Amino acid sequence: MTVEIKLSGSQMSGLSTTSERSASLAMWRGTLHRCPKCGQGQLYNRYLKVVDSCTECGQELHHHRADDAPPYFTIFVVGHIILAGVLALEQAYAPEAWVHAVIWIPATLVMSLAMLPRIKGALVGLQWAMRMHGFDEDSNRPV
Ligand SMILES: [Zn+2]
Repeated sequence: MTVEIKLSGSQMSGLSTTSERSASLAMWRGTLHRCPKCGQGQLYNRYLKVVDSCTECGQELHHHRADDAPPYFTIFVVGHIILAGVLALEQAYAPEAWVHAVIWIPATLVMSLAMLPRIKGALVGLQWAMRMHGFDEDSNRPV
């Protein structure tokens, strides 16, 4: 059984012309430092500097407003991992304090610097998928 629906031009004008955006795919692409829309173009042109627009698909990316969220989530994740490691090492071997310092200070720095751009990329991808902060092309369309 086939149902055919025909819409006139006036009925079509009320429909959104934009397609659905997968938040999980966009966040994954951002985690890989890729454009959340096409997954091909680079997200950053420096360590944490998001490009103004994608070189592959032209998607404008300057709309993002990640602000303090990436450092917040990075501290949250890294803090929990490091704390679990400190407690496990202390329970198992009870080493002296300098051993903890030698292990966990560099581990904290490396993990934070590695995770920060990935978490920021995921948040930019989420903002793009949720059409936040100017990522909705229809927001400037006259009503
Ligand atoms: Zn792109």
